[in-house]
This record gives sequence, structure tokens and C-alpha cells, in this order.
Amino acid sequence: MSGRIPQHFIDDLIARADIVEVLGRRIQLKKAGREFKAVCPFHDEKTPSFTVSPAKGFYHCFGCGAHGTALGFLMDYDHMSFVDAVESLAGMIGIEVPHEEGQRPAQRFDELFELTQKVERHFQHELRDNDKAVAYLKQRGIDGATAQRFGIGYAAAGWSRVLDKFGTSAEMIERLLAVGLIIRKDNGKHYDRFRDRIMFPIRDSRGRCIGFGGRVLGNDEPKYLNSPETVLFHKGRELYGLYEARQALRHIDRLVVVEGYMDVVGLARNGIDFAVATLGTATTNDHLQRLFRLTDYVIFCFDGDRAGRDAAWRALQNTLPLIEEGRQVRFVFLPDKQDPDSFVRENGTAAFEQALQEGVALSDYLVRELSSGVDLASVDGRARLAELARPLLRLVPAGVYRELLLQTLAESVGLSAFKLEALLTAGSEGKDNKMRGKAARHTHRATRMTGVGKPSVLRRAITLLLHYPQAAQDLDVEKLADLQRPGAGLLRDLIENVQAEPGITTAGILERWRHHADGQHLSKLATIEVPFDEEFDAAAELAECLQQLARVAARERIDFLIGKERLDNLSVDEKAELRALGNNPVKPHIAMD
Ligand SMILES: [Zn+2]
Repeated sequence: MSGRIPQHFIDDLIARADIVEVLGRRIQLKKAGREFKAVCPFHDEKTPSFTVSPAKGFYHCFGCGAHGTALGFLMDYDHMSFVDAVESLAGMIGIEVPHEEGQRPAQRFDELFELTQKVERHFQHELRDNDKAVAYLKQRGIDGATAQRFGIGYAAAGWSRVLDKFGTSAEMIERLLAVGLIIRKDNGKHYDRFRDRIMFPIRDSRGRCIGFGGRVLGNDEPKYLNSPETVLFHKGRELYGLYEARQALRHIDRLVVVEGYMDVVGLARNGIDFAVATLGTATTNDHLQRLFRLTDYVIFCFDGDRAGRDAAWRALQNTLPLIEEGRQVRFVFLPDKQDPDSFVRENGTAAFEQALQEGVALSDYLVRELSSGVDLASVDGRARLAELARPLLRLVPAGVYRELLLQTLAESVGLSAFKLEALLTAGSEGKDNKMRGKAARHTHRATRMTGVGKPSVLRRAITLLLHYPQAAQDLDVEKLADLQRPGAGLLRDLIENVQAEPGITTAGILERWRHHADGQHLSKLATIEVPFDEEFDAAAELAECLQQLARVAARERIDFLIGKERLDNLSVDEKAELRALGNNPVKPHIAMD
């Protein structure tokens, strides 16, 4: 996170530095309870509103809002760069900052990119030398030009082809590990991650290889294997084929999201140059933001099977928060047993284009899915539709599009948009089996769910964790696995970080996130006043937040499963899961704030 200086060194530095000593050398501090006060050095004031908390390693001025860690203070007060501040703080404590040698090489991005590029070329050479692999690509309809355009290669069978060729020194082995090309065994020995696979280089927006996807030639498992998360490669953000699409097209007027790299390559081979694929993950918010930065027209094209329909529903849920006027989103469902690659090979480019044209608009897809299996002639049926729609519509930002969606939905329900809106916002039932029960009895004792699952609980959890990192020691992060909303990932990361580093302070966390997109946000939250008296039980409070969020996650899961149930689409496991969730109804509860 800190570029050239290893993160563990920053962790250590922040843990050892005494913020009172660092600041006390520059400004006059006065003890006030467990904190220290001073006249703020960053704004003009007579009464001190500048507070330093040694426990948190954090300062904050209530007058002007200045805040930060010891490192941040040196940067702001002495106008130092980050690296200089690290040097200076290390100097005060009397420790040396690790440089060039040591940890640095594995962290240097240019060197890592150089390595991935070399390995990419190596895989391409291996492909040329391997008749079996070439025959496989031919049989899949991939010609030489397309293979070249996507840099397709082959990782030969054997356990150490890449290791032997590139792992020529301890340093090079570290780099291979850093980019995920080799795996370290418990005994400290290494072996190649990709063996006997067709290799697809995954590129960043500048065309640099950040990772690989590997597909088996036969029917071995796993069929697809991707590079793990590394400093270069973040699955939830990258889209396979995006760089190639941008190279091929001067102007991108639409993008098709498909499921696999073979789909992207197969479509490109047939003249569809605007396909991209997610890499073994659902379509995330990050993906969608990247797509919408390039075009206002996104088409999801999934396989006609059950997994494909699941993926589409997930994609819809993740798209709703980003939907706005001017953006067009469609869903294309191919016939059963078909994927985009096989479809275009069998039916040709024109037929695929046609399928795209006939895709279902997002609003229609949403309404169609929600109203299927609901008896709209009955009051109960309409109420049930409103219940199903509520969690989804809540995701759509207020605006023209939301109004339109509401209108479409209202029409199919036979209510005025106004009445529907009232139904949607009224109370929530459906925290128990009723919601999906055949005898969906109507909802009189509507229980309020206000505040639950809103960012506020998440925000409170993150704030508490920042102020009382130790309170997160016993939390079960697994409980949040299904939670989808913005900030959930950050909370999970925070909990994992804090649990891995039990002594970490507020400042330690902030320094870990200094170079991260959420860093600013976190440091703002660190300035929020939370009770700091003896009685306050942060761990209990935090556990309660987590409990609430877990319930929200369970509800989202139920909604998702119900969505599938209506498509008659539940696996045996999922049926059992839904039953289990239904038997342990998610109980109503009181909002926190
Ligand atoms: Zn101030």
C-alpha cells in the first residue's frame, strides 16, 4: 500500500512512534485526562481545540478539522513528503528504513510488469511448440491472428517450467510469487501455478499483463484457473478484453459483458469486438463503473443455463445503484446449453447481433422477473410484488430513471405510481416465511425496518472499529459474506486486518489505508466523536452492529433465493438453505440511529 516502503515497516513504525513525543517537539501539549490538548497549529485560535490521543495515535482539531497520524502531522506541519516523513519518524526512533535491497524489489511494479511480459512471451513460444494446444484452439475456431491479438499462449505440463526458467535467484522467485505464477509449499519449495493450460494474458488499461487466466484443454477441473489476487491483479475490478476492445474500436458505443475469456475471444474472432468478461467473479460495482465510464450502453449476455440466469440476476442487482438517465442496460439470454462462443460459431455474427438487439431492457427484465409467479389479480399478489420490489428499488438512485421504473412496475400491478410508492415505503413484512409462503397472507402488523442495512449501521461499525480496533478481535467476518452494499467490503477488510494485527491502533489502520481509495474516508470517520468513557462497551456495540448487518445479509440472500425460486431455478442445496433461512426468520429489530 505504501509503494516502495514495505507495509510491515510502516505498521511497526506507527506502533512504536509516540505521537505525543512527535508532536510535543513541535507544539506545546497539555495533558487533559487520557488525551492531550494544544492550541491548534493549523488555524488561529485562543482556546485549545486541538486534541491528541496517544492511545489511538491520532490527532484532531475540532476547530478546523485537521487530523491525522504522527506521519500525517509531519507531512502537514513540516511540509514533508510521505517518504521524508517516514525517514524522519524512523530517525527519531532510531530505526532504519529498508531501502532498495530487502523487500523492495518484489514491490516494484515496473519489475513485476517486466516479468509478466516475459512470461507471457514464454507461454506464446510454448504454444507454437505444442501441437496439441494449437489443435485445441483450431478446434475451438480460434485462428492465428486472433490468438496473436489476445496474446494467447500455453503453459506446458510439468511442475516447474516457469519456475526453472524465470526463478533464477531468490529475488526472482519472490517476484514470481508476487505475481502469482508460482505457489510456495509448506516446506518452502515452489511449483508452477499453471500447468498444461491455454493461457490468456489479462491486461490493464495500458495493455500491461497483470495476470493470467488458464483453461484446461480437456475436461480436468478446475476448467478455468485465474491468477490469485496480487498487487497487480484485482479480480473485482478487471475486465478481460477491455484493453483489446479499446484497441480495436475507435469509439465504443456499447459493451457486451460475457462470462468467460473464450467467449470474448470467440466473439472477437467473429467480428464482435466489444465483448468483455469478468474473471470468475460476479459483475461488481467496480466493473460497472469502469464500463459506464466508457459507454452508456451495457449488454449482459449470459449462458442460457441456470448459472447464467443467476449471474444475470446478480448483475441486475449490482447495476441498480448505477442506473441513471441516459444509461441503457439490456439482458440477453441465450438458448439453453449455449454460450456466446458456441452461439456465434453455430449461428454466425448476424444472429448474435440480432440476439443483442432483442435483449430485454433492464426495467422490463426486473418487472418480468418480479411479477412472474405472482397473482396480480389479487390484493395479496400485488402486495407480494411490492415486497419483492422493495429491496431492489431501494438500490436505484432517486431520479428520472427511478420514476420510470416505478411507473412501469405500477402499471403491471395496476396501481398508481403514488400508491405503489406508498406500498413500497410503508412497512416491511416478509421477514419470515410469509414472504415466500404460498399463502402469502396480507400484512397488517407491518414492522418498521428503518435504518436497518442503511449505510448508517455499516458506517457505525466502521467508525467503532476504527476507534476501538481491539473490539473487533472476536467478530466473525464470515457473517458478512453475503452482504453486498457499498462499504461492506471495506468493513470485511478492516476486520481481517485488525484480527491479523491484534495490537494495531487507529493510526496503524489509517496508515495501512493511506494510499487506498478509502483512506480519506476512514480518516474522516476517525475524527467522529464516540463515547470514550469506561462504561462504553465497544465490543458489544460492534457485535450488535454486525448482528444487524448479518440479518440484512440474510434478507438479501433470502430475496435472492426467492428470486430464483420464482424462476423455478433452485438447486437442492439452495432449497435447503432457503428452508433453513425461513425456519429461522430474520427477526424485526430496532434501528440504531
Ligand atoms: Zn485547527
